[in-house]
Amino acid sequence: MISVSTDRDRAWIMAQRPPRAATLDPFVPYASFLEEERAASGGVVSSGTILLTNKECPWRCLMCDLWKNTLTETVPLGAIPKQIEFALAQFSVRPEQLKLYNSGSFFDSAAIPLADYPDIARAARAQGDVDVRIVIDEGGNVIEAQAVSGHPLLRTAAVNAALAAKFNPTRLSGEPVKVSGLLTYNFLIQ
Ligand code: SF4
Repeated sequence: MISVSTDRDRAWIMAQRPPRAATLDPFVPYASFLEEERAASGGVVSSGTILLTNKECPWRCLMCDLWKNTLTETVPLGAIPKQIEFALAQFSVRPEQLKLYNSGSFFDSAAIPLADYPDIARAARAQGDVDVRIVIDEGGNVIEAQAVSGHPLLRTAAVNAALAAKFNPTRLSGEPVKVSGLLTYNFLIQ
């Protein structure tokens, strides 16, 4: 049987801990390093790992010690892209692949604000196609948009672009109708 922590368990876990050792800067990652690693292509490439400074993961699992290098509050908007830029400036070479670690889920919008995604994508040089499935109403407005493929850091920007798009209404026997389709956004580093 799988059991999950209750609020009482979390309080007990936190009561066993010593105080946080360090005061971290929300604009500086608490660690970063370069190493050689195998890439998806099969080749060995330089790989940069960045351990981001952020608020502690809310789950507070008993065996987890990531809390030691966390803050008590979420970092301000814009801090995560700055942390990535800071780490990249410390590396002796620009790594061919980048690994970003957050205490908890990177895709928790309470930890990594969605508004930071475009700057994080730029800093990480994320690029490529994102497919967005859309529904267009009788007036040509996009009323639903969902990214179905593509780099996770680029999906929010693609969905926002799709929702802002406007189309000529589609007519069937002279009557405007609702239609669905797929848009592909291509992101390129310039
Ligand atoms: S980071 Fe993972 S292991 Fe640590 S508390 Fe959160 S869910 Fe648990």
